Amino acid sequence: MNNEEKICSIIEQAEEVLQPYYKKNKDIAYQNFKKVMTAFTNHSVTESDFSGTTGYGYDDVGRDKLEEIYRDVFKAEDALVRTQIISGTHAISLVLLSLLKHGDELLYITGTPYDTLEKVIGTTEDDIGSLKEMGVEFNTVDLKDDQFDTKSILSSITEKTKMIGIQRSRGYSHRKSMNVGQIEAVIQTIKEKHPNIIVFVDNCYGEFAETREPLEAGADIMAGSLIKNPGGGIAKMGGYVAGREKLVERVSYRLTVPGVGKEMGASLNALTDMYQGFFMAPHTVMESINGALLMSYVFEKLNMKPSPRYTEERTDLIQSVSFNNEEEMITFTQMIQKASPVNARFMPIPDLIPGYQNPVIMAAGTFVQGASLELSADGPIRAPYTVYAQGGLHIEHVKYALEMSLTELSEKNMIEL
Ligand SMILES: *Cc1c(COP(=O)(O)O)cnc(C)c1O
Repeated sequence: MNNEEKICSIIEQAEEVLQPYYKKNKDIAYQNFKKVMTAFTNHSVTESDFSGTTGYGYDDVGRDKLEEIYRDVFKAEDALVRTQIISGTHAISLVLLSLLKHGDELLYITGTPYDTLEKVIGTTEDDIGSLKEMGVEFNTVDLKDDQFDTKSILSSITEKTKMIGIQRSRGYSHRKSMNVGQIEAVIQTIKEKHPNIIVFVDNCYGEFAETREPLEAGADIMAGSLIKNPGGGIAKMGGYVAGREKLVERVSYRLTVPGVGKEMGASLNALTDMYQGFFMAPHTVMESINGALLMSYVFEKLNMKPSPRYTEERTDLIQSVSFNNEEEMITFTQMIQKASPVNARFMPIPDLIPGYQNPVIMAAGTFVQGASLELSADGPIRAPYTVYAQGGLHIEHVKYALEMSLTELSEKNMIEL
């Protein structure tokens, strides 16, 4: 067999082995879709809901209705779903900056949070607008053997501890993602002793990966990005915060103005995409996860180290693969770019970007800038040369990109087929 035939055969074999996993994911997608559909029906979504507002954005019926739909699907008391939330980091920082005050402590129990939060938390008092500058203390408890370190968590909590932070997805780290069941167990343990602590979940990359979301597991508030899962690949911008009513109210005062909160904020012409995206999201998230399974299986067969393995339960989109060196990592990432529908002729190279500590290489030939529910791959250049791949609006794209990267990697003698 020549290389092309070998690659086809590996992928064909993978798809056969993965059938039972695909089937399970189809069931999850259907359950989630039913939740979304039920909310659309209960709120009688009509064409006029998409018309949007301008200026102050008073009486934006479509915007308010979409927030009620998010609220219902995510089992929240209230939700804020806005184009004015510019990113996942923004959604998360709204929660942190509005609910924590001078003298409070934020305790993250999934280790160091996502890189872009560093400036929000602040490392020195000179970090303008940070929690640090506000006088909020920050501490972390690392996972232990890929589990919440319950003993350490309980002994770390003091009277100052106002909020517990949980990052569901691993982000750019080697730890495991924490599934909703694990999150539920740790929240129960914490709340038994400390019923008043606010539990916040960074839900980025997690929405619709399982049939339950963190609020159903006892979290008080959660946040995410609309250019990831819940935007379904269609929303052009935005973020959401969902949770307890009183908390979401505070967050809304931080987003807009005290006393105004959710009442204002024009949606212009963004609502159609936001609605359609949420409608698509349960399906698209599973396409993306199925693509991740395909990558995981294939790279394992080629003696690379994928994480999670294809056999592991999923709670987010992230698929990492660790390569042997920088060159392999860069080659793979460049091929993801080359296999993109947009900007395929650009060649990504590692570079320093704000918010990240190491040079990062990023492949993202996406329709929506930075949208990582679309196929993208990135990673900070540091041993063990791990690329974090995520997204794929449909599995055909992931398969295509995989074929292209395996071809290039084998031509450069970086893998043996
Ligand atoms: C993507 C992500 C963020 C930040 O979202 P941006 O939209 O990139 O600002 C935060 N936490 C996790 C776990 C993420 O995956």
